[in-house]
Amino acid sequence: MKQTKKKKTSKKIFLARKVNVQVLVALLALVLFAGLVFAFSSEHHPAATKKIIPKSSGNTAKKPLSPKPQPKVEPQNFLPYAGIRVPILMFHHIRDPKPIKDAIGRNLSVSPEKFKADLAWLNAHNYQAINIDDLPAIFSGKLRVTKKPVVITFDDGYEDNFIEAFPDLVAAGMIGNFNIITGAIGNPGYMTAGQLKAMERAGMEFGSHTVSHLDLATLTPVRQTEELMGSKTSLANLLGKEISSLCYPSGEYNALTIAIAKQCGYRLATTTKFGYADAKSSALELPRVRMTESSNFNSLFQK
Ligand SMILES: [Zn+2]
Repeated sequence: MKQTKKKKTSKKIFLARKVNVQVLVALLALVLFAGLVFAFSSEHHPAATKKIIPKSSGNTAKKPLSPKPQPKVEPQNFLPYAGIRVPILMFHHIRDPKPIKDAIGRNLSVSPEKFKADLAWLNAHNYQAINIDDLPAIFSGKLRVTKKPVVITFDDGYEDNFIEAFPDLVAAGMIGNFNIITGAIGNPGYMTAGQLKAMERAGMEFGSHTVSHLDLATLTPVRQTEELMGSKTSLANLLGKEISSLCYPSGEYNALTIAIAKQCGYRLATTTKFGYADAKSSALELPRVRMTESSNFNSLFQK
């Protein structure tokens, strides 16, 4: 009897084990099935597709997002941006003014020696030349700087800008913003398309100074649009980049010009009105500081 009981008990244990094994097999099968379903579905999941794109695909839009390398600058070294004022310097010719006979031409000329001394002064006084395109970000605090920002503009696109100013800017580690009359590119005394491209490759910035340097305030809306849009398109095609700044020829413009400039996609425009740009400046009426042979930064930047 005892033996039979034992047999019965062991049979029960065996059955219990058998049941456990069946449950285990069923569970394993379930896990395997779930795994297969997950693998199959993730193959068609956009997020998974994004992951398997090789980094060298060249398609930047589909690259997985990675944090941009941050400059090694401690936050406390940034200048306070609230109330920041940025001088936008206005140069024309960089050539010796002495032999120039006409008074206007002489007034628009700064000698190469004076120009070099100006750049040296800016460097010595902790100024950093920036792209004019960066102004809105600087005023809003989105772009923080460790040195005092300054914009160095050159109007008209004279050839001496390439011969004299460009090498000095590169040597001083500064960016120049060149406002180009697109109808004059390659004319005697003006920079050629090749020179502009070389400067662009070296990090210089370009703005539109219209097609033919006419007084915009006297033109019809159609002619103003032609001047603003034509120069923007030519420069963009030549340099392969968007042109977002405009400089009004001789500082002449009206309310209509501003509306057309906006419509043409200009974000910033400079005038010949004296002053320093700040967060309150109208983006399409930025004041500038005219530079001459007798300009003195010590008195100009005292205020
Ligand atoms: Zn001009």
